[in-house]
Amino acid sequence: MNKTANNLAELIGDTPLVKVASLSQLTGCDIYVKCEFLNPGGSVKDRAALQMVTDAIASGELKPGMSIVEGTAGNTGIGLAIVAKSLGYDLEVVMPKGQTKEKEQMIELHGAKLHLVDAVPFSNPAHFYHTARTMAENNPKYWWANQFENLSNAKAHFEQTGPEIYQQTDKEIDVFVSVAGTGGTLGGISDYLKSQNPEIKTVAVDPDGSGILNYLAQGKHIATEGGSFTEGIGIMRLVENFKQAKIDYAVNLPDKDIVTVANYVRKHDALVLGSSSALNVTAAFFSALKFGPLGSNEKHSGQKHTIVTIACDLGERSISKLYNDEFLATKNINVAEQNIEQLKQKY
Ligand code: PMP
Repeated sequence: MNKTANNLAELIGDTPLVKVASLSQLTGCDIYVKCEFLNPGGSVKDRAALQMVTDAIASGELKPGMSIVEGTAGNTGIGLAIVAKSLGYDLEVVMPKGQTKEKEQMIELHGAKLHLVDAVPFSNPAHFYHTARTMAENNPKYWWANQFENLSNAKAHFEQTGPEIYQQTDKEIDVFVSVAGTGGTLGGISDYLKSQNPEIKTVAVDPDGSGILNYLAQGKHIATEGGSFTEGIGIMRLVENFKQAKIDYAVNLPDKDIVTVANYVRKHDALVLGSSSALNVTAAFFSALKFGPLGSNEKHSGQKHTIVTIACDLGERSISKLYNDEFLATKNINVAEQNIEQLKQKY
């Protein structure tokens, strides 16, 4: 790379794909992750943060001297902190209590003002989303990013992440797998890939307690909060960014399986994944085994199928949960209880 950037925001995006060699070997498919942890804020959410802010500046909604406010499980806050600092804005972040301390500390280290609120159901006006919204409604100094409904979020992935994946796989991607928090990543990428080749299959993955699967299966959005220890994902209501998604299959996977796969790729591929990335990779493994011939694209029948998913962030932000046996025991998960071969048989 021969590039000089003027600020960190300019380094967002353009991330590589890396093969998950161990799982590729176990399944006979080529499984790749897009290394979104290489963004300057360490997560896929940097892309949405940058697009939302630059679009708001361009439209005149966000003016010099205003402060950005956002409700987030953490990663969008870190992405916004970098973008805000790079472009000269202040930032206030509203976060529910109970996310990993690592993310709270990062937001504060970036100099953003952190408001911690109780983790309450969405229907409660004290929910982090409503807290950020009412701050903006009550004070014109704030511009509310609103990552759930602001379509600049999915646009970042439709215009950039999706095309990057398509080019990086030489247009031969068969299956794309993604979690959803706001649905921006899944929405933008699945929409772009289908626009290029409707044969590409898309798989949405749900942690325990989230409602996507019910929505797709029954047209009803049934969600229960608190079912999984994964953070920042699991859609509890239908939001605009998620509505962009073009989904062929949805799978629901338990936290126990995520732990098995996370530890396997940690030992074999040097990938210490965050919890949502671990769910993505588990779902890619599941898809390779379950829907092996999914990508039966005439053009490369007989070739290995290419499955791509997102490494949203790294495990440094999940050490106190995903890689902490004592914490897992409180969730009735015994790390030694299941190995990858058993999981392969189960799938
Ligand atoms: N992974 C992590 C770690 C996240 O923080 C988020 C968003 N909160 C996602 C995945 C989901 O991304 P999106 O909002 O684009 O659905």
